[in-house]
Amino acid sequence: MSVALVWFRRDLRLQDNPALQAALEAGHDVVPVYIHASHEEGEWAPGAASNAWRHRSLAALDADLRARGSSLVLRAGDSLPALQALIEQTGAEAVYWNRKYEPATQPRDAAIKRTLREQGIDAQSCNGSLLFEPWDIATQQGQPYKVFTPYWRNVLSHWRLPALQAAPETLPAHTVDSLALDTLQLAPTLHWDTGFWEHWQPGETGALEALSVFEDGALRGYREQRDLPDRVGTSRLSPHLHFGEIAPWRIAHALEGLRSAGTDADIDGYLRQLGWRDFAHHLLHHFPKTPTDNLNPRFDRFPWASPSAAQLYDWQRGNTGVPIVDAGLRELWHTGYMHNRVRMIVASYLCKHLRAHWLHGARWFWDTLVDADLANNTMGWQWVAGTGADAAPYFRVFNPVTQAEKFDPQARYISRWVPELAALPVKARFAPWQHPHLLAERAPGYPRTPLVDLAAGRDAALAAYRQSAAG
Ligand code: FAD
Repeated sequence: MSVALVWFRRDLRLQDNPALQAALEAGHDVVPVYIHASHEEGEWAPGAASNAWRHRSLAALDADLRARGSSLVLRAGDSLPALQALIEQTGAEAVYWNRKYEPATQPRDAAIKRTLREQGIDAQSCNGSLLFEPWDIATQQGQPYKVFTPYWRNVLSHWRLPALQAAPETLPAHTVDSLALDTLQLAPTLHWDTGFWEHWQPGETGALEALSVFEDGALRGYREQRDLPDRVGTSRLSPHLHFGEIAPWRIAHALEGLRSAGTDADIDGYLRQLGWRDFAHHLLHHFPKTPTDNLNPRFDRFPWASPSAAQLYDWQRGNTGVPIVDAGLRELWHTGYMHNRVRMIVASYLCKHLRAHWLHGARWFWDTLVDADLANNTMGWQWVAGTGADAAPYFRVFNPVTQAEKFDPQARYISRWVPELAALPVKARFAPWQHPHLLAERAPGYPRTPLVDLAAGRDAALAAYRQSAAG
């Protein structure tokens, strides 16, 4: 029987895995491989929270493979020599993988494919993570989109979902040696991540469970509730999607099966979010410098301020004195996740009120989010900062107080993550600096004034914007 390596990367699942499926359909005995090669991802090597998740997800994948008679072969080092050594060791004739779209790994993968093919190995790559790959959708002039709505309209006119594929029931045993997972040193040695695992179950089983919880719960009302951070109003599938523990088309199939007059708007709203995810990958592929460079070059001359280390630290740790901002950043620190609405609020506070360059925030999210994803994170930060595709204009400055009043009207989210404010009346929890006596009496540990006065910060941001527009 011929042997093929299936090179797992960010497709840590057995069902709906096109690379695995293709290897099996070609009649190969499969050797599943994961190569720890973070250094090949350049400055966007996975951050600490992402690695903590990856550790558990790899363990889950190995357990799923073992339940079928196989096991995951772990290697570390440069990818190409690691693959070549495994080809030598196993006599593999083919290598299959699912594509990634980051600027550092795309050329690497293209070079690996070329080299392996030159050496007579059948190297094949598949789409394992998107509904539509970046090059599937283009304007009539053959150009990439920079605006979401026409992009999405185009997607909908081509809408089709790949068929679902069950996980193989058995896989052949192999005798290839593997590194022990612990030697990859992905899991934190200081257990700062303990809080994460009260909220998350990495791995394919956890992903399917999250989908089922969503189908039975937050799906109904998603359109209305997805902006309310005090409840589970969204699917919380983002880390599972990032690590490829579930295919987006499995989610789409599941939701399509639940269509009814009562769920149509929610399902359409949800599929649109998956569309934003594809769009982010479209942008990253076509504009590969955007993880660090403004998509809109007009902002290259914008006078960003230089926040002090202390200001940045206070923002990172949720100690700004603006409760909704602090709640979001503390949720992130404790759970590795932050609600989307609150991501926008904390990002706006950083880029506009503090006028810090969006990269300060993007890098912090990169290290602390369990769903840190170069495409989504880059698009999210550039969108809020006003420097990106289809972005919120810079002059539209979120007011964190009115945002909190609108989206967290009972201050439940604030009280959960900033419990020292719970002794204040609800109305005082949105802008506690306006109630100095109450604050001093009932929440003495909380900052008396915000890191930057909201009106002054907003005015300074708008002045800077006008200055850069005029220059
Ligand atoms: P749901 O509402 O259930 O959405 C379903 C899925 O659609 C998500 O899992 C996600 O894959 C995708 N999605 C939803 N909203 C967006 C969006 N705005 N852009 C792209 N895809 C989206 N998302 C990440 O996955 N990784 C990131 O690193 C990331 N960084 C962000 C940074 C900023 C500043 C902002 C404003 C947003 C960022 N997002 C990021 C997008 C969004 O906040 C998360 O995808 C969402 O909160 C995940 O929760 P959920 O799975 O419950 O979402």
